[in-house]
Amino acid sequence: MTDCIFCNLEASRIEDENNLFLVIKDLYPVTEGHTLIIPKRHVPSFFELFEEEQSSFLEMLHSQKEKLASMDQTITGFNVGINDGEDAGQTVMHCHIHLIPRRNGDMENPMGGVRGVIPEKQSY
Ligand code: AMP
Ligand code: ZN
Repeated sequence: MTDCIFCNLEASRIEDENNLFLVIKDLYPVTEGHTLIIPKRHVPSFFELFEEEQSSFLEMLHSQKEKLASMDQTITGFNVGINDGEDAGQTVMHCHIHLIPRRNGDMENPMGGVRGVIPEKQSY
């Protein structure tokens, strides 16, 4: 799509790719190494990915996780997240999966992780 930022990424921004997915660094990272895994096909929702794309995504997710963990020994965990739909916080309407490295002590109490999409529900 002509007006989609993820359909029009400069080649220099692309960290890795396979036949169906691109990998870039998030421009406004939550933590150092925050990575986005993006299908080459313009599709708004993760749930619209074809089976072939789903398995290709999982391969890419594993390889990026291994890459980040081996490059940076301070990483002690990961959050993997998809904001699917505007009401779930999606701002770029081209499917992308967040891979966010976490480090011991990077916030006071990480309990609940992705439950923090509703901040007052993060801890339980
Ligand atoms: P979401 O809220 O899930 O749609 O996330 C969009 C993500 O894309 C955010 O984490 C932004 O920081 C990131 N982002 C926005 N524009 C760009 C860009 N031009 N290049 C890389 N990441 C971007
Ligand atoms: Zn797009």
